[in-house]
Amino acid sequence: MSSLPSPKLNTEDLDALITANHILHYNKVLDAYGHISLRHPEKHDVFIMSGDRAPALVSSQSDLIEYNISDSSPVDPSSKKGYQERFIHSEIYKCFPEVNSVIHSHSEAVLPYTMSGVAMKPTFHIAGFLGTHVPIYDIVPLYSEDDQQDMLVNSQKFGASLASTFSTSASASSTPNHNVVLMANHGFTALGTSIKQAVYRAVYTHVNASVQTNAITLRNAAIGAGVSVEGELRFLNEEQVAGSLKMNDASQDRPWGLWVEQVETCRMYEHTRSHDR
Ligand SMILES: [Zn+2]
Repeated sequence: MSSLPSPKLNTEDLDALITANHILHYNKVLDAYGHISLRHPEKHDVFIMSGDRAPALVSSQSDLIEYNISDSSPVDPSSKKGYQERFIHSEIYKCFPEVNSVIHSHSEAVLPYTMSGVAMKPTFHIAGFLGTHVPIYDIVPLYSEDDQQDMLVNSQKFGASLASTFSTSASASSTPNHNVVLMANHGFTALGTSIKQAVYRAVYTHVNASVQTNAITLRNAAIGAGVSVEGELRFLNEEQVAGSLKMNDASQDRPWGLWVEQVETCRMYEHTRSHDR
């Protein structure tokens, strides 16, 4: 088992990581699957995430494992079993030094946009961080003949390819051009410079997908019923996503405060803080 917390590591960061696991479950971004990680605040070549268990059940720092960003191997070789898809996290941290938190989700609301040919678009100001284009990563062309085609990003090769989808430049870039990437027939991955920012983006990616689906359904139902419909479906334009992105970052404390209160008052989430022990 990993020996956490590490020297110099602020235990508040680990508590925030545990709380974020609960928030993401509460908001239906994660169920039994999916995960969130944090780059180690002191050791930038290490990241931290839960071992192999449902995010809602992560309850103490002993549930967390440190991994080397270089190859996703556990810092402590005797660590308990981890998530197979931790390469999503290690390869993104490797590509983008400013990224400090990564979330991977199989959100039910988002999944239709990974396999229907309908592009996800920013429907409202709270989702400005999506930008005007949300790319889709497809693992299938990367498969070799002998690969088990289970869609999991469970190798450095698959993780590096996913990480490169966050950048629009052909050469390796240290700054991501996208905050969210959809994954064909699988889900999505979101990143941020902090846990709070990554959680905001993951929750509102999920919400945006629901809003967009409702708008499309409403419009088609109205047309089918002979109700007059004006204009086309309207999404945020380039200028509006740029303005909204600044607002999103400036206002993320408000939903975070709400979500912390929700999970701390919900009996299903246990959280043993270091000072409680
Ligand atoms: Zn997955």
